[in-house]
Amino acid sequence: TAHLRNQDPEIVKAMNLELTRQRDNLELIASENIVSEAVLEAMGTVLTNKYAEGYPGKRYYGGCEYVDIPEEIARNRAKELFGAEHANVQPHSGAQANLAVYLAVLKPGDTVLGMNLAHGGHLTHGSPVNASGLLYNFVAYGVDEQTFTINYDEVRKAAFKHRPRLIVAGASAYPRTIDFEALGQIAQDVGALLMVDMAHIAGLVAGGQHPSPVPHAHFVTTTTHKTLRGPRGGLILCRKPWAAAIDKAVFPGTQGGPLMHIIAAKAVALGEALQPSFKDYAANVVSNAKALADTLTAEGLNLVSGGTDNHLMLVDTRNLNINGKDAEHVLDSVGITVNKNAIPFDPTSPFITSGVRIGTPAVTSRGMGVDAMKTIGKVIALTLKNPQDEAKLDEARKMVRDLTAQYPLYPELQY
Ligand code: PLP
Repeated sequence: TAHLRNQDPEIVKAMNLELTRQRDNLELIASENIVSEAVLEAMGTVLTNKYAEGYPGKRYYGGCEYVDIPEEIARNRAKELFGAEHANVQPHSGAQANLAVYLAVLKPGDTVLGMNLAHGGHLTHGSPVNASGLLYNFVAYGVDEQTFTINYDEVRKAAFKHRPRLIVAGASAYPRTIDFEALGQIAQDVGALLMVDMAHIAGLVAGGQHPSPVPHAHFVTTTTHKTLRGPRGGLILCRKPWAAAIDKAVFPGTQGGPLMHIIAAKAVALGEALQPSFKDYAANVVSNAKALADTLTAEGLNLVSGGTDNHLMLVDTRNLNINGKDAEHVLDSVGITVNKNAIPFDPTSPFITSGVRIGTPAVTSRGMGVDAMKTIGKVIALTLKNPQDEAKLDEARKMVRDLTAQYPLYPELQY
């Protein structure tokens, strides 16, 4: 980075501060991860210079013969990894991927049945401030008030009541396994299309730790940067008959030129996910989440739905007399990064909330295992139970420092 250091020290300074933050903190945001050095390297390349509107072999610009190679590899690896008939690796983000599917199959005003945003659904599943909610008639299914899990009979009832053109499944804050087979059956019975947004669990699906939506859904969208551990971006999988409509909806429907350096990095990450070691990674993410959930429960914390089947858990902080916003803040002050998150049926505002979302993908990428999770669980409990006690918070800070020092992050990196 000699050129960058000479030319723009202000930016380099921020990059080094962020590197130090990542090294010294425990990253427990469920939607984040730590990419490999190989993925990082692929992003910072001359591939960023190339305009390549269109698709491999059918571009609107000359000189695309070499950038076609990583895109073709990325598409093939995505298809192989998930057993899909067609892959589009161009969406710049998960939001773009979802928007492209909507554009491909819906007309403005069409009815879509999606998961209630307040129960774990995503902004792009019909929020009134998002294009999805502005353009289409989204109606919602939620979780059961007793079990906090999806009641598939209720989804079926809602589907027959509203007769949607599309059913959207997938969530940003749902700690349990989703029954894609049941949703596929409901979609078939009611004559709807099914889109599964597997952004959060894509790495678990790839690693065999969550049932795959691919056999049951017409469209599967994902981000590439969460459990899948690639660069920030999106990806769409679909069946053959929909391939042309999906490609057209991404470009020219919703995007211009693809980010070829990011597509190369997606190819590298998908290559990593095809290695046997990625299965171990996915299994460790889940066993770590279980160990962390068990520790938090033993410490007296309340987990929404009583635990987790996947990479994340939602802590209801009300019995600790602290709201989600303050919980996020005090955890941050001891070096633990989480996000405040509304819990289902949350009585407070989305800016305050009654909970925090905690996930294990990033700490697992750092190499931490079950023993580390037990320590993390104890630090979280110590911090949330004593938010005003400086001596206890200092103790928590020391435990975090000891742990992060044992698992060095990007040891050779320096900007
Ligand atoms: N879908 C789900 C389920 C998500 O959780 C997210 C991001 O948090 C997205 C889509 C959007 O992804 P992006 O931030 O890349 O637009």
